[in-house]
Amino acid sequence: MKRRDVLSTIGALSVGLSTSGVTKGEVLEKPYKTIERELETDILVVGGGTAGSIAAIQAGRTGHNVTLLECQSQLGGTITTAGVAYPGLFFAWGKQVISGVGWELVQSAVELNGDSLPNFSIPHGREHWNHQVRLNASVYALLVEEKCLEAGVNIRYYETPISVEFKENYWHVETIGKGVHAVIKCRQLIDCSGNALAASMAGYDVFKEKVTQPGTLMFKIGGYEFESLDLERLKVAYEMAIDRGELIRGEFRGDIVALLKEKGDNVQHIEGADSTTSETHTVANIKGRESLLKHLRFLKKQPGLGNIRIEEMRTETGVRETYRIEGLYRISYEDYITGKVYPDSIAYSYYPVDLHNTEGVVPEQLTEGIVPTIPFRSMIPKRSKNFIVAGRSICSDQLANSGLRVQASCMAMGQAAGAAAALAIEKNVTPADLVMGDLKTLIEMHGGIIPKGGNSFKG
Ligand SMILES: Cc1cc2nc3c(=O)[nH]c(=O)nc-3n(C[C@H](O)[C@H](O)[C@H](O)COP(=O)(O)OP(=O)(O)OC[C@H]3O[C@@H](n4cnc5c(N)ncnc54)[C@H](O)[C@@H]3O)c2cc1C
Repeated sequence: MKRRDVLSTIGALSVGLSTSGVTKGEVLEKPYKTIERELETDILVVGGGTAGSIAAIQAGRTGHNVTLLECQSQLGGTITTAGVAYPGLFFAWGKQVISGVGWELVQSAVELNGDSLPNFSIPHGREHWNHQVRLNASVYALLVEEKCLEAGVNIRYYETPISVEFKENYWHVETIGKGVHAVIKCRQLIDCSGNALAASMAGYDVFKEKVTQPGTLMFKIGGYEFESLDLERLKVAYEMAIDRGELIRGEFRGDIVALLKEKGDNVQHIEGADSTTSETHTVANIKGRESLLKHLRFLKKQPGLGNIRIEEMRTETGVRETYRIEGLYRISYEDYITGKVYPDSIAYSYYPVDLHNTEGVVPEQLTEGIVPTIPFRSMIPKRSKNFIVAGRSICSDQLANSGLRVQASCMAMGQAAGAAAALAIEKNVTPADLVMGDLKTLIEMHGGIIPKGGNSFKG
């Protein structure tokens, strides 16, 4: 068709459209308008990640009305969206120390995907990762959503709080989502955002280290034979690329060989990665992807790596550390490495002290027989009412936090938070005033394990 004919056809079409209004299949709609909602729920959980989804399931299983806000498109948080799908650690010194809702989910995910559990009876020695459970993140995302729905949890994806206010004995949480603006009124609020976001909005004190641990974009690479690579030559090329300013040593812990040997996984380090706001998380995501792309282009030019390719990449850079609450108790490094048991210990937490810095990480294994515990007071912001925090942002110093932030511990905290919120409603008290014996009994009734005895773990 000649240009003049094409133009006249378009002209005829547009004339046709303007006379009939809409074409077949189109619907004449009012201009786009934000939907306003006023909702009420017993318990609102902010953040449907590692701790939050478990908190919601536990609270739902007590028969309460539960709403779960998640700003992403799926549940599981760092396990699924960030792809750190190897929760640890459920067993210590030959005995199970964390069980309950999280463990139930992990077992179901392993079974559904035809995977297997590690042999927990073989001591892990200095290689604690041998006791982490390798999960398929997608399967976990499917199952955690299913279990929430079965527990009657009302899931709200793509939504975030913009204000949190306590009025006339209720929390009023104003949220914004895609095309939705809501005010959610609730009796108990659980902050599982990983960033103490709701606690901060509620006006409670939060703190952050001057230098936080780096973040990591999880990915898998392939398309090469590691055994046939000339590693010495590769190391020289890598050093030259760093000298030319093309690559940054810290981004892969200065170890290009480890990146190739591990085929990606948990090897990248993005300094200052922060998930607190959409702006800071955008920066962390872009830095993680840019770093991967730069290294991939460099590697592709090296002998034996012409076919290197990305086999999998998660959608966000995983963040290890941001804000924590100032709580009724701050767990110290000393408490952690001595396995202190408190009258209000609601869960064990077993993992080495694991602080990542620019050099990498050298985990400090716990002394044989030691299993740290989580006191419920570390989950309650100072001067708070009807408010609980679970997950990595509980009140703890940086070294203690580097160990207790792991997934099995976050799941156990989530379960304790869900149970405590439910019990607080039933007893009509604020969580800090709960009788610890009642809370422990409820957690145990739902399969959780409560620490017993003095500071030495008897199993
Ligand atoms: C790279 C990396 C490696 C790690 N390695 C291990 C390991 O080997 N083993 C291990 O057990 N642990 C590991 N961890 C630690 C562990 O994964 C995390 O500390 C833990 O998962 C944190 O759980 P959480 O529930 O506190 O936060 P998350 O799981 O991150 O959940 C927070 C949830 O809140 C949502 N959210 C945040 N802000 C808002 C908002 N404003 N509105 C609504 N929703 C919001 C998020 O989208 C997310 O779903 C690692 C962490 C990282 C980043």
